[in-house]
Amino acid sequence: MADPKEGLTASLYIHVPFCARKCAYCDFYSIPLKPQDPRLEAYPAALLREARMQLNQAGLGHIPTVYIGGGTPSVLGPSGIEALLAGLKKFWGGIQGPSEITVEANPESASEGFLKACRDGGVTRLSLGIQTLHEPSRWAVGRVGAVSAIQEGLGLAQRIFGADFSVDLITGLPFQDESVLLRDIATVLSYEPGHVSLYALTVEPGTPLASAQVLAEMGLMDADREGELWIAGRDALESRGYGQYEVSNFARPGKESRHNIRYWRMENWLGLGPGASGTLIDDAAGRGVRLTVAPAVEAYLGRLSRGNAPERISEALDRRILMEETLLMGFRYREGPDPVLFRRRFGVDIEACIPPPILDRWSAEGLLQSAPLALTPAGLLHLNAFLAHLLSTTAS
Ligand code: SF4
Repeated sequence: MADPKEGLTASLYIHVPFCARKCAYCDFYSIPLKPQDPRLEAYPAALLREARMQLNQAGLGHIPTVYIGGGTPSVLGPSGIEALLAGLKKFWGGIQGPSEITVEANPESASEGFLKACRDGGVTRLSLGIQTLHEPSRWAVGRVGAVSAIQEGLGLAQRIFGADFSVDLITGLPFQDESVLLRDIATVLSYEPGHVSLYALTVEPGTPLASAQVLAEMGLMDADREGELWIAGRDALESRGYGQYEVSNFARPGKESRHNIRYWRMENWLGLGPGASGTLIDDAAGRGVRLTVAPAVEAYLGRLSRGNAPERISEALDRRILMEETLLMGFRYREGPDPVLFRRRFGVDIEACIPPPILDRWSAEGLLQSAPLALTPAGLLHLNAFLAHLLSTTAS
């Protein structure tokens, strides 16, 4: 989507790979902090050096959205986030800057000073990682932060960001049942966030939660029960005016994440910081490239301090891979893949790439709708089965 006169349009994802402690289910690239960790102080300057290099190299003319995620960006503290946001702001001088900037925070490190530094630095949306307010479930998966600190964090978010904040919750946690989940949702909604993400717990291989001993001790619920619990959560959110606009995301009208919609539509973004991935797509050619900064924070800081670019891993996305990813991401979104963008990118309509028996079967069961072609709310519950069916047959 490059305009030769105005430069490339791409969002920015900025990764802060530090956390107070590693949660038992987490497979993101994140590192537990040491006391007085010197890496934390060096990090904003390194990110800004990388941003200068990447923005120049990509020839950006427009950055529609920025997302600072992690890890736990709030461990940067007020001075760290202030330095990062002030440095980024200087880049907007010669190009069209973002209309949405999101920062993720965990309540135990989201102090009033941090949230005010975010707001004063131009952040338009805050995303709070709560997951649950149920102490036994928090303890079971190693989440830091007392429930009192979470409630304080929710109060600060409401006071400083109004409704422009989101809360992450997880279903299927050990020691969680429907009454616990619905109580968590009621507590969170009493602070009136504009947006809630409701994720189902996945036990990723290699995480502490995946060890046989831990699984046996925790007695994780089976898939059917987990599914019922998630549906109870979905219904509670929808009954309070939070519409499902993606498989795990709910928002009051106008409070959707524009940055994440760009992911689901597979529109360009650059990733900065160790472990961050970006995807740049040449629509005219129907192919793209994925660039991932090597997930190694020490090497990253060392290279940037010497004025060198970080190591990046490059993966070509040929027409078939890009088409599959565009469908895979697009069907997560309640409005489905963007038909105009799909035709521009691949020269065919979405319907032409899906065998009629699949369209007929999923439509007949009320799981797929046309105009726009998208999964219905009932269909979103079977997203993985639909995608597996689709990818087994997608025409290139
Ligand atoms: S706070 Fe988030 S990123 Fe950090 S370890 Fe826990 S789940 Fe992973």
